[in-house]
Amino acid sequence: PSSTREGFSTAPAVTWSSIGSLHATREELGMAIVQPIRRPEVFRQVGIRGGCGVLMWGPPGCGKTLLARAVAGESKANFISVKGPEVLNKYVGESERAVRQIFARARASAPCIVFFDELDALVPRRDDSLSESSARVVNTLLTELDGLDTSRSATSAPVYVIGATNRPDMIDPAMVRPGRLDKLLYVDLPDRDGRAEVLRALVLSSSVPLSSSDGTNEGIEKSLTEIEALVQDRCDGFSGADIAALVREAGVVALRRMLGRIEMDEARDAVLSEARAQAQKEGGQD
Ligand code: ATP
Repeated sequence: PSSTREGFSTAPAVTWSSIGSLHATREELGMAIVQPIRRPEVFRQVGIRGGCGVLMWGPPGCGKTLLARAVAGESKANFISVKGPEVLNKYVGESERAVRQIFARARASAPCIVFFDELDALVPRRDDSLSESSARVVNTLLTELDGLDTSRSATSAPVYVIGATNRPDMIDPAMVRPGRLDKLLYVDLPDRDGRAEVLRALVLSSSVPLSSSDGTNEGIEKSLTEIEALVQDRCDGFSGADIAALVREAGVVALRRMLGRIEMDEARDAVLSEARAQAQKEGGQD
């Protein structure tokens, strides 16, 4: 369903602990958005006036959406998620109205995080090839961003904007000027240890209880450690989304459905055979 038409969102239950790796990015988001929302008096005292948001970019499936949700969860702010292409409308003037409505809704539910995924579709570079109506959408969004900055006062709860894109070069440069989305955060593929952390976060943030064949916590930890070693050694180049898919395809979801909990020993074997199958598909030797 289109999130631009949904009612007010509530704060997501996602926190930093749902995310593996990306420590520096979490730190930056904490200082740019979470702390200013949670402790506004500190930021006012020292006279820091940040921009009204950040732009995250990088390859698909590496956690940009997840980070945005965690920012809202950690800030206990409401969350409105919008996909750039959803806002574009064939009727002239409709897209601008949709953009203004999103911000009106955000102000009404402040503190609020507005997440624009695929921002490049909404605010492409304004050049000769851009249609007049697209240029008007870009202008509307810039005007709304500038309005956020000036309306941030001691009395009103803040609205922050997080943009995400795979193609920052396609975005109108005016979006990233100071006072707007003036912090650029690169969200990279996880490295070897990062993959293990992503796996652990995925498994441990699941609400489903874990179990092992010997019925002990040590048994669970042992299986988890073995699965971590697998994604470290065999999943080079995997994104977080790939690791999530691996876990899913490995049948954990099916196990969960059947058993109501994750049998860690079976999950380990399933992940191993799935990783083998993927490695063979990619022409790797096994
Ligand atoms: P896109 O550019 O395609 O929109 P994205 O960068 O926004 O991708 P997400 O939607 O956040 O990626 O990630 C997809 C899924 O992959 C998440 O819901 C989560 O299950 C998993 N995932 C990705 N990165 C991580 C991570 N660092 N820690 C834990 N899970 C992750």
